[in-house]
Amino acid sequence: MANDTQLTAEEVATFQARVLAWFDQHGRKDLPWQQDITPYRVWVSEIMLQQTQVATVIPYFERFMSTFPDVGTLAAAEEDQVLYLWTGLGYYARARNLHKTAKQVITEYNGEFPDELQALEALAGIGRSTAGAILSIAHGKRAAILDGNVKRVLARCFAIEGWPGTTATSKALWAVAEQLTPHERIGAYTQVMMDLGAALCVSREPSCSRCPLEDRCQAKREQRIAEFPGKKPKKEMPVRATCIVLVCNHDGEYLLTRRPTTGLWGGLWTFPEVEAAQLDEELIDRGWQPMPSSFAPFRNTFTHFHLDITPVQATSNEAVVNEPNRSQWVHPNQLPEIGLTTPTNHLLKLLAKCDDNAVIDDNMNNGNGNVQISMDLT
Ligand code: SF4
Repeated sequence: MANDTQLTAEEVATFQARVLAWFDQHGRKDLPWQQDITPYRVWVSEIMLQQTQVATVIPYFERFMSTFPDVGTLAAAEEDQVLYLWTGLGYYARARNLHKTAKQVITEYNGEFPDELQALEALAGIGRSTAGAILSIAHGKRAAILDGNVKRVLARCFAIEGWPGTTATSKALWAVAEQLTPHERIGAYTQVMMDLGAALCVSREPSCSRCPLEDRCQAKREQRIAEFPGKKPKKEMPVRATCIVLVCNHDGEYLLTRRPTTGLWGGLWTFPEVEAAQLDEELIDRGWQPMPSSFAPFRNTFTHFHLDITPVQATSNEAVVNEPNRSQWVHPNQLPEIGLTTPTNHLLKLLAKCDDNAVIDDNMNNGNGNVQISMDLT
């Protein structure tokens, strides 16, 4: 289609009829956020589903809802509790924005989510697509969505060229999404479009033979599926390095410190971080005795850079002094309800395992006596 965005009325009607018929027959209707639909539940699910697969989100969503059943309980929560329930999902700015927006909905909208696109888009962390999902699913209002899954379906079906991160491609995709959005059954249409992208039109090896759009899909017809959506131009990512000190006291507790509320891993708890060049000096200053590390260095990849992390182990004779909001000693087997960075969460789980078994499982060992961790999360 070379990014020509004009569809005929017949094309639009056929597209809508096919996907809605597929929804009636095969679409998922038992997902937790499809029950007891409210703007709050749709909003939380949409934010969790950004960058994360349905199967991963389900237990997080259920835990979140049982702790914060409505926007009021979320707004009244401590940030630590919100980050704790987000631990492991990654992209923590989503959790902080969720918390911020909940407070805004309480103070500015009397606890009711706005039902206008512009007002929703003005809330922290809510973009045009999330606003469209809330309006269509929870309020039954006609509004287009274009999340990652829908972009993939539309880019392939209409062979829309280019990386969706560019203005031109994004505009072309939104134009098609707007034209295809029906006036009737808008909630079902929104859900089926997300479902098609998540269940059939997946990035690799889509299930075209089960897809209701197979015979009108241009990428399929031209055997160019892998070309859509266009890839982000590759750029060398800078590599940064840091050491984290897993310092243990006589009670088997480890020291965690809280990061500043803004910036990388804002507000999350982590092992003390030290620059490699300052490591020896820092260990002496703090009176920590280094010991052989059981953990191999690993890489954590963020959107704009790689962070190479070297875990260093040490012991401490320091008296246990917890400074609320700044530092605390925690036992890996009795973790408090706080938000942890992904590497800290993984390492604490491994330390708990070591503590339980006294020996490190073979499949975690890289053969040099070091535990290997592989992560690619923010
Ligand atoms: S036919 Fe295949 S590539 Fe085209 S929309 Fe359906 S699943 Fe995606």
